[in-house]
Amino acid sequence: MSGTSAAYLSRFRLLGRLVPGTVWRGEIALPGPALSGERWPVIAIAGAEPGPVLFVNAGIHGGEYPAIEAVIQLGRLIDPARLRGTVVLMPVVNLPAFWQRTMFVCPVDGLNPNRMFPGNPAGSYTEQLVHALFHEFIMLADVAIDLHGGDIVEELSPFVICRRGTSDPDQRAQELGAVFGLPTLVTIDAPVQPGRGTMSFLAAVERGVPAFIAEAGGLGQLQHDAVTLLRSGVMRVMAHLGMLDAQVPSCPPPERCTAFVWLYSEKAGMFYREVRAGDWVSPGQRVGYLGSFFGEIEEEITSPVAGRVLFVTTSPAVQVRGLLMGIGVPG
Ligand SMILES: [Zn+2]
Repeated sequence: MSGTSAAYLSRFRLLGRLVPGTVWRGEIALPGPALSGERWPVIAIAGAEPGPVLFVNAGIHGGEYPAIEAVIQLGRLIDPARLRGTVVLMPVVNLPAFWQRTMFVCPVDGLNPNRMFPGNPAGSYTEQLVHALFHEFIMLADVAIDLHGGDIVEELSPFVICRRGTSDPDQRAQELGAVFGLPTLVTIDAPVQPGRGTMSFLAAVERGVPAFIAEAGGLGQLQHDAVTLLRSGVMRVMAHLGMLDAQVPSCPPPERCTAFVWLYSEKAGMFYREVRAGDWVSPGQRVGYLGSFFGEIEEEITSPVAGRVLFVTTSPAVQVRGLLMGIGVPG
């Protein structure tokens, strides 16, 4: 094998040189003073033949269990003897959130990792973690997939989210995002919520790496149909990239949404939702309301758009400016 064709085996400084046709499993330290003393599980499957390098992670949000399980299963399913290229897997990025069962954020500093990309090596714990993930893995891959789902209090209809754009990495990410096979594909220009940084795939495509998020499952449960959707989606992308010969059944083209509208409460209260994830809603349709502890309706929530409910908060405990649901708008 020539030096050039073997380059895919030695890209990841933290993993050293991989041996073709083998699987490497281990727990590794990540660079960053705030991260010292901890170790993250990584699986690297080095194909017998050269080919693309795919990085797949889950657990940026520690309570999105089907995504985590899909990565664990991929680590056992992909046969290096039949693989062209390399697959590097990280099942749980946000380990503190996983162990503490924390939603949305990392409990060490209260920051949402998926609003922090590309991270900051001199920042807080989450910013250092994101920086290490981004620079040691995502930026070294030919394609990066970040698996998510609804968090512990979110019901979700499966979807892929890509950056809207016409650059090569954007177009490639949208192509692979459609191949992934979930029923909805959303494209966005900018993060739907502000943070000190941006979302994983937005930072990656901005710097030339085709990347997208795929989401399935939720409610803090390990739904096996959602695990299968995410695991099969990754295999479909691998087959499309020529990494596998396996026949992975294709899916109908996704419904494409060009806007992602998130609804928030104005007040705090008990949230009574009147829609489910996957429902179609019309402009002006009441989708839920907030009630007081005295049983009065405090605030009616209506949809400003026609679209599909992609996730909805299931917990009735909603604070002022609480996130209630996200609606994908086809276009
Ligand atoms: Zn998530």
